[in-house]
Amino acid sequence: MARPPIDDGVVLLTGASSGIGLEMARLLAPRARVLALVARRKDRLEALATELRAAAPRCRVLVLPADLADRQSTDAMLTALDAEAPGVDVLINNAGFGDMDLFELADWAKTEKMLTLNVDALLYLTHRVLGGMVTRGRGGILNVSSGAGMAFFPGFAAYIGTKHFVTGFTEALRLDLSGTGVVVSQLCPGPVATEFEEVAGNFTGMSAPKIVELSAADCAKKALRGFDRGRALIVPGLLMWLVMWVAERTPRWVRRLFLAPFARALRAKRLASKKPT
Ligand code: NAP
Repeated sequence: MARPPIDDGVVLLTGASSGIGLEMARLLAPRARVLALVARRKDRLEALATELRAAAPRCRVLVLPADLADRQSTDAMLTALDAEAPGVDVLINNAGFGDMDLFELADWAKTEKMLTLNVDALLYLTHRVLGGMVTRGRGGILNVSSGAGMAFFPGFAAYIGTKHFVTGFTEALRLDLSGTGVVVSQLCPGPVATEFEEVAGNFTGMSAPKIVELSAADCAKKALRGFDRGRALIVPGLLMWLVMWVAERTPRWVRRLFLAPFARALRAKRLASKKPT
């Protein structure tokens, strides 16, 4: 079984300024030869780079701020990376965000940006680096999907759609690349304590039960352990793994029946909170 060439490799990590990505960076720096940190908030990336350079002086940490929902900005980042360290060995497509709302009420600009980042940017970055990996006969791609990529639940329709795309794409890409030396894995976490909820918004007043929530550090550790082993699908946390295992084996019609009352209650709550126009 091929392993992703993290050790002594050139690693491109998106969404490194907070949450799961930031914690992955802390684990990757002691192993990689070059670690390229990508996100929009340059100050956060600079602060992280300073920390990583002190902790892992052998690793060249590159700060490459970019808005991945903007093609020009993405291209400029890739050009800068190519000038510093050509040939990405490992790509971790982690940047992404959610939007919690009833779809007809969602802000279209936010929805569109989410689609561009979660789907388009992930595809584009993969496309830009994959040819080189296949030619060299080694490489690794870790796509961060979500439990939302394997299931469906109310209040997150467009986000769930983006993550189903990531899950389907990643499974199919893994198949296409079998025997090439390029390892393709996906991470499908349940709730993780990051800035995700703040960005997604939460009108329900409810949060995920603490018992299923992982810390970002724990999630990152489990993600990289699974990736190192070449796992196709990494669902971190035993309880969440069990939930997904049961959900996947429950007929769709049962899940629809079970979720419908929650969906109706959620709609009523959202409409009650809607500001008069
Ligand atoms: P987070 O703390 O909000 O981190 C999101 C990262 O994405 C940040 O570094 C952010 O950096 C970056 N990002 C957002 N928009 C960007 C843009 N336009 N261009 C470049 N970078 C951008 O959330 P997280 O939970 O760690 O999310 C990481 C991944 O995990 C996402 O794909 C998310 O869908 C997935 N996930 C999260 C959970 C959860 O419960 N937390 C569960 C399942 C899956 P800047 O703002 O600085 O650009």
